[in-house]
Amino acid sequence: MSYNQLIFWGVMAILLTITIGLGLKLFGSDSATVPKTILISPPLETELIPAAPTVKTDLPSMNNGTNFLVGIVAGHKGNDSGAVCADGLTEATINYTIAAEVMDLLKRRGLQTDLLNEFDDRLTGYKANVLISIHADSCQVAGASGFKVARVTDSAIPQAEDRLVDCLNREYGRYTGLPQHPSSITDNMTNYHAFREIDGQTPGAIIEVGFLLDDRVILETKPKIIARGIAAGIICFLEE
Ligand SMILES: [Zn+2]
Repeated sequence: MSYNQLIFWGVMAILLTITIGLGLKLFGSDSATVPKTILISPPLETELIPAAPTVKTDLPSMNNGTNFLVGIVAGHKGNDSGAVCADGLTEATINYTIAAEVMDLLKRRGLQTDLLNEFDDRLTGYKANVLISIHADSCQVAGASGFKVARVTDSAIPQAEDRLVDCLNREYGRYTGLPQHPSSITDNMTNYHAFREIDGQTPGAIIEVGFLLDDRVILETKPKIIARGIAAGIICFLEE
């Protein structure tokens, strides 16, 4: 073969390969656009979140759960919308979705639960094994990510409430993979109104679960993971 013939047959071979390849792709039995591996065995929920650490996905079981009463305040519920995002997503909606999931998780472990409004009449002198208020942070602050937990400054039961805060910090961080953001703990948290209303012997804490802007994806689309972190923190506190 001459040099020109070599070039000619070389080009033909390449064109034939491309034609066959395109034909298979367009008309072959494997032409579905979704790779089959995605359709088989979806990964565990936690694996979908890059930030989530590799922890167990189930909560610890609870002995004598029925002996405990847990109050959950769905932040702003019954009062106002809380923080609002540009597209109308409200903090109150996020808080309530998470609070409902926490209630569900605790009930399934046999605990008694009360879902409370922000300014619930039942908060006055409220007696329970623990009270947690669930809030989320601003949707206006770009570049801020993370959560924080606080108890009242002048606690009547500081050791118990410190332990509650520690449990929530540890378990919430473990389940969600979110960092702590302690620098943004405000008087609104440490002087939170419900702390003044509940019985002094009821351990209470407020959690800001994340920032609505930068943490929106996990807060909005993974409320079950958020709720597991809070429920695990509560169980950690009650079991010690
Ligand atoms: Zn709030």
